[in-house]
Amino acid sequence: MKDFQQIFGKAPEAQASAPGRVNLLGEHTDYNDGFVLPTAIPQRTTVHLGMSKDGQHHFYSEDLDEQVSILDGNDTPSGFSSYIYGCIQLLEQEGYTIPKINLHVSSSVPIGSGLSSSAALEVATLRGVRSLLNLPLDDVRIAQIAQQAEIQYAGVQCGIMDQMASSLADAEHMLFLDTRTLELRVIPFPTGTEIVVMDSGVPRTLAGSGYNQRRAECEEAARLLGVKALRDITDPQAVEALPEPLRRRARHVVSEDNRVLEVLEGVSAERFGELMNASHASLRDDYEVSVPALDTLVAMLQETKEVFGARLTGAGFGGACVALVAAGEARAIANDVLERYNSADFLGKILVPQVS
Ligand code: ADP
Ligand code: MG
Repeated sequence: MKDFQQIFGKAPEAQASAPGRVNLLGEHTDYNDGFVLPTAIPQRTTVHLGMSKDGQHHFYSEDLDEQVSILDGNDTPSGFSSYIYGCIQLLEQEGYTIPKINLHVSSSVPIGSGLSSSAALEVATLRGVRSLLNLPLDDVRIAQIAQQAEIQYAGVQCGIMDQMASSLADAEHMLFLDTRTLELRVIPFPTGTEIVVMDSGVPRTLAGSGYNQRRAECEEAARLLGVKALRDITDPQAVEALPEPLRRRARHVVSEDNRVLEVLEGVSAERFGELMNASHASLRDDYEVSVPALDTLVAMLQETKEVFGARLTGAGFGGACVALVAAGEARAIANDVLERYNSADFLGKILVPQVS
């Protein structure tokens, strides 16, 4: 572990951090202009920054033990530096003059586990530059620039949920987001609950192609239904005339949007758990983005005492599960389920609560 001083030979002039996130409800709805319900996780990405005096940007990641220096006129860098460089380039396109900087990244957000270490890196970087240069950027603008950095510079076609969650959510609340209008609402967790997040140990290998196929199916379903996006359908009956598999794909999106909207009315822990369980069944049967390992892990969570509900979270095809559990029980439940899951020959991991 090398800190800013050890890498750059002087003390940092600014620092900032941003959390990872997990989505509790509203999966595969964001690219349908729909509703999502993420929360921040306790793990954060921290950046330390200072001015660079040699005419180059220098970015160092403690987690990768990798340093990248950027000369003007070079192509966009690849790897982790593309996220940081993208943020800086977009700030310049907004009209800000950004000097060359030294930037040190360290993070407790697991990288590549679906908890959005990429958004945490972007939002921490933008907050750090805002603080270093006193830029008048609000948190929504930061999320929008972060999303564009990921799309245009890291080459990832992402929605706005991850960056909005990292920029605006905290770990004590859920953040309702309308991805079309960007209307936001901070909502308390159901009384007496906390969350468990577990990695299934199955890599999201098919996630890219499966994701693109689902997106295309949703666009086609919306076209056949004569709406701009599936978000515009509120009556689940409206999708019944679609040809398969579009009928089931659209049924997932419409029912999932309705589940998120129900939470806005204020629901008990039990009802929230039922909505999560229904979301998993819908993702498994209608949207077909689960895999046997995720179904096994979710079932083990669901059948555990003091678990209100559980579902896969993220795009699916592997990755993580989230559960809503009784407050104070997360650690014990996660340990118990992990032991049972891994004795069934899986390689799961606990992601939240944080394992120190
Ligand atoms: P997720 O966002 O789910 O963790 P992604 O594939 O979207 O997974 O983003 C992971 C990428 O983000 C990494 O490969 C790396 O390029 C970058 N990244 C995230 N956190 C860090 C970090 N702490 N140090 C360096 N790079 C990071
Ligand atoms: Mg990401």
